[in-house]
Amino acid sequence: MLRPGQTIGILGGGQLGRMLAMAAARLGLRTHVFEPDPEAPAAQTANAHMIAAYEDQGALAAFAEAVDVVTLEFENVPAAAVAFLEARVPVRPGAAVLAVAQDRVAEKTLAAQAGAQTAPFVAVDRLEDAQAGLKVVGLPAMLKTRRAGYDGKGQRKITSEAELAAAVTALGTKDLILEGFVPFIAEFSVIGARGLDGAIALFDPPVNVHRNHILDTSTVPSGLGPAIEEKGRAVTRLLLDRLNYVGVMAVEFFALADGAVLVNEIAPRVHNSGHWTLEACIVSQFEQQIRAVAGWPLGDPARHSNAVMTNLIGAEAEHYAAIAAEPGAALHLYGKKEIRAGRKMGHITRLTGPAR
Ligand code: AMP
Repeated sequence: MLRPGQTIGILGGGQLGRMLAMAAARLGLRTHVFEPDPEAPAAQTANAHMIAAYEDQGALAAFAEAVDVVTLEFENVPAAAVAFLEARVPVRPGAAVLAVAQDRVAEKTLAAQAGAQTAPFVAVDRLEDAQAGLKVVGLPAMLKTRRAGYDGKGQRKITSEAELAAAVTALGTKDLILEGFVPFIAEFSVIGARGLDGAIALFDPPVNVHRNHILDTSTVPSGLGPAIEEKGRAVTRLLLDRLNYVGVMAVEFFALADGAVLVNEIAPRVHNSGHWTLEACIVSQFEQQIRAVAGWPLGDPARHSNAVMTNLIGAEAEHYAAIAAEPGAALHLYGKKEIRAGRKMGHITRLTGPAR
């Protein structure tokens, strides 16, 4: 168990790292971010910043020396960098978890092995795989890159066989996954944590609405009802145990009209759909991640308030003054210098009453 004053290394320097560093500070723990961008959001709140490429072994070795444990806010850290660090310092969650979470085929395979439902899927490494796969998954379908996709990047909806060849070429032909299109009634997520001692704590599942493939709002309570929520919780517990996981993990689900719940994605880190925990829970997802990786007891995930989290995308962040003046709204800005279309610049959490 880390003592106050010891240091948590964070791979990745985005807004998730920024909020992790602030949560660590609340507990008297220090943070050291490894991130190539000198202006990164987390560099502004962490105690130290290693500005280096993930391939720089000298920098990785110095980083391992400077920290007591390593965690991550970005799952696409090269596997070699994580393996290099893991030989020198505990990395939580570790390389084995990342290998699964970095690959959409591996994560869906794991979910299926754990007894969870997913959309039908096939791995695609050439056009013929996709053509044969279409017969398995049906139309419409989603073609995605297996790795490094986020916010709808690296994916195409396929509505006819004729569209397939061009989409396969556009996404690079190999290392793809073809999934059946899921006619979901809602998307929700479960953000859970597993401690070093195997204890598990789950936050209430938010219902998530996307706009232009980017998360727009997360709302608790979800309104989906206890049966659907409990299915998501049960799958999340199973996955945390099966991966011998330490830290916070988010599982994104599709809810179907017949009450079925399908795993869409597993994120081995704190998640955008859990930002409301900062205001609506005693212990946020960020503190929970810090507690788990530091070997501390997990915090109480109980929610004392209902909440709606809304992302501020691109130019929406220019309305900060009006939002700051709004009673009951908690404004978060991530310190990103440049506003770009589609870029997550901040978020607002509005508390909507006592939890029920
Ligand atoms: P992902 O990057 O896999 O999380 O996908 C981004 C968003 O695209 C999801 O949150 C869904 O809204 C939509 N989506 C992804 N996969 C599917 C699918 N198989 N069926 C229907 N919608 C999907």
